Amino acid sequence: MNFHIMTLFPDMVIDAMHTSIIGRAEEKGIISVKAHNIRDYTLDKHKKVDDYPYGGGAGMLMQAQPIYDCYKAVRDEIINNARTTEDTYMRVIYVTPQGELFNQKKAVELSKEKNLVFLCGHYEGVDERVLEEIVTDHISIGDYVLTGGELPAMVIIDAVSRLVEGVLSNDESAGTESHSDGLLEYPQYSRPEEWNGRRVPEVLLSGHHANIEKWRMEQAVERTKSRRPDMYEKYLKNK
Ligand code: SAM
Repeated sequence: MNFHIMTLFPDMVIDAMHTSIIGRAEEKGIISVKAHNIRDYTLDKHKKVDDYPYGGGAGMLMQAQPIYDCYKAVRDEIINNARTTEDTYMRVIYVTPQGELFNQKKAVELSKEKNLVFLCGHYEGVDERVLEEIVTDHISIGDYVLTGGELPAMVIIDAVSRLVEGVLSNDESAGTESHSDGLLEYPQYSRPEEWNGRRVPEVLLSGHHANIEKWRMEQAVERTKSRRPDMYEKYLKNK
């Protein structure tokens, strides 16, 4: 699976994306993450990529031309590297506080794609015309406003790529986690059996798998009910 990030700050995303689990998955060739500097595509002799909004108002807007030319270069790269028609499929995601809220269901949906192209906005945002021209999905990571789209793109890439087969060492671990089945995950414990006067629940030491499963399910339900009553309501409805 290939991720392309169109950004004015490529160093910010590349440093972060080439470490830990995502970095290892890249080394194994399961995923690739590439940053494309929008500024490289500006036709302005001073390398400017933003301008004042028509009609006035605070701040600057990212202009359409450099973004569109950057997108065309990414699209050509995807097409040139494709071995089958399917390899040419791509979704272009504009990360924006005005988008659909990102969640685990969306991560699963996106993990089935071959190519995801992210457009990271900055300043006051992006000229609407280029969004109309290239964007297939508008996605928000939460109801708050950040200074740029780099962190949202990285959040989405992290959540999506760990669902791609082979990225996590144990395929099981993505399936039982919080949000995968409408519940938060049960509490977990590791060695030692007693720490700071707190013991690991006896059932987990019993070796009785059915009882452990039952206990974990009860804990997951209880935890969801107390911490995320909104999720619990949905869980009850879908049960
Ligand atoms: N003026 C814009 C508005 O009111 O919708 C906000 C612009 S914000 C300061 C700059 C950029 O950060 C956006 O273009 C977007 O790419 C990114 N961004 C900010 N908050 C975000 C969020 N919650 N989810 C996704 N992207 C976000």
